[in-house]
Amino acid sequence: MTNSVTSAQLWDDAKRVIPRGASSGHRIGWNQVFVQARGAHLWDEEGTQYLDFLNAWGPIILGHSDVRVNEAVLRAVNTCDLTGVGPQLGEIELGQTVCELMPSAEKVAFCTSGTDATMHAAHIARAATGRRKLLKFHGSYHGWSDHVAVGGARSDLTRESPLNTPNGAGLHPAVVADVIVVEWNDAAGLRAAFDEHGSDIAAAFAEGFIHSYGCVAPAPGFLELLRELCTANGTVFVLDEVKTGFRAALGGIQSINGVVPDLTAFGKAIANGYSLAGLAGKDEFMGHLGAYTHEDVTIDGTYNASPYALAAANATLAIMREEDTIARIYALGERLRDGYRRAIADTGAEAVVTGLGSEWAVYFRSEAPTNFRDTMDVHTARYAAYQAHLLSQGVLETTSPTGDRRLNAATTEADIDRAIEAAHGAFAATTQIA
Ligand code: PLP
Repeated sequence: MTNSVTSAQLWDDAKRVIPRGASSGHRIGWNQVFVQARGAHLWDEEGTQYLDFLNAWGPIILGHSDVRVNEAVLRAVNTCDLTGVGPQLGEIELGQTVCELMPSAEKVAFCTSGTDATMHAAHIARAATGRRKLLKFHGSYHGWSDHVAVGGARSDLTRESPLNTPNGAGLHPAVVADVIVVEWNDAAGLRAAFDEHGSDIAAAFAEGFIHSYGCVAPAPGFLELLRELCTANGTVFVLDEVKTGFRAALGGIQSINGVVPDLTAFGKAIANGYSLAGLAGKDEFMGHLGAYTHEDVTIDGTYNASPYALAAANATLAIMREEDTIARIYALGERLRDGYRRAIADTGAEAVVTGLGSEWAVYFRSEAPTNFRDTMDVHTARYAAYQAHLLSQGVLETTSPTGDRRLNAATTEADIDRAIEAAHGAFAATTQIA
């Protein structure tokens, strides 16, 4: 923290060399530039401290700059950096851990982002089935590749927008046209999609608990129905655990709900902020990855399974197992949701809080949403007032009125109670807005 330049000046500097000032869409639209991160907190260029409820959209689970993880990374850096030959030692260890923890994991391969993982899943499914179409749910985000960048993750959608609206410009129309989008929790719509296209659907992609637009649970039996339809139609069931993996449970959401997919994409929390992701699943499907013939699915990547990220992941998972991190973040999450709900009741604000474990969402509408369309009528002006008030009190929540937020294990009960107090003022600030 230098205090010599302001965040505003840094944004101006950034915009001169980086389109819109930052290299990832969700980073645009903030006033802050953060220059220090430690534990549960961030500090901006002016030296203001914030309790972090973004946690980089998911990866930070133990806390920012965890010394134990950083030391493991440094050891790796100083022992054997990139070689580009054979498996990495840390890869074998992490592979064993993931296969032990995750019910669907018979084999696992590591890459650098959740987008890589879902892209590999699409390629495997097409290679294994000889089919072209993919099915996904409205509003679910599975990364930015053409295969799945359809039907959500855009702020300008309305209730009238077609379900399969592309997420952005420049996607290949033929690839996009092969994506079938179904509303989440719409069992009849799901059955109809399989009735019409079942023999053409290579893979169905789903989150096990929606975090793409907050926190929306599957209706009882919905994931089971998806599993059943995939099995009946020879479709590969790809569970996207990029946000739920190693956060909802060490074995992912699949270890909670018992619905075992064919392939699982994961990333984020596994390495506490270092760039590691992966794809796990049945040997039958994972076996397509690797060699170089027309029958094999390419998995290449200079930085796949980088020794630094592997060291971070192995250290993160070891600490989480030893300290029962999941139980800690669940208890903190419950405390926060209870407090926020009390604040809503006390202030008479029209809002609902949903969530699971360390994740929660705040929707400015009268009822918890059950699907993406439901979230399109949230009261955006009230949300903006709520978020601005929290920010003024040093609590950083997402600017998105349908976004999910999360805490990390370095957060204390006192931090949570302070956030609840701030939320009280934030909910009260919304009650004057028509
Ligand atoms: N899947 C889900 C559910 C996500 O939330 C994300 C990212 O936010 C991705 C996939 C893509 O992951 P990445 O940003 O690492 O490419």
